[in-house]
Amino acid sequence: MKVGIIRCQQTEDMCPGATDFSMAKQGNGAFAETGAADIVGFVSCGGCPGKKALTRAKMMTDRGAEVIFLASCIGKGTPIGFPCPHFAMMKEAIMKALGQDSKLIDWTH
Ligand code: SF4
Repeated sequence: MKVGIIRCQQTEDMCPGATDFSMAKQGNGAFAETGAADIVGFVSCGGCPGKKALTRAKMMTDRGAEVIFLASCIGKGTPIGFPCPHFAMMKEAIMKALGQDSKLIDWTH
């Protein structure tokens, strides 16, 4: 299945996303729902407060992503235990932008 992943821009300096790529390849963690995944895009939210996540999610669905994932740096705050304060709003706004039939999974590992 083709997926797109959105990550927290604030954690780019401390995490290259290696675990997300590994989990997606193996179909582990949150990717157990999709099976081994083909990543069509791995982008950041665009920086606080994350408004660019909407258009970036759309950009990836336009390129074939069937499911959008919010990496665990956003909702769980990995790797430093600092979740995004805009998580709930970002999630809701992306769902609204993509439409009811779209699938959003709000963690990766
Ligand atoms: S909006 Fe949230 S996910 Fe995006 S950079 Fe800021 S803290 Fe990270």
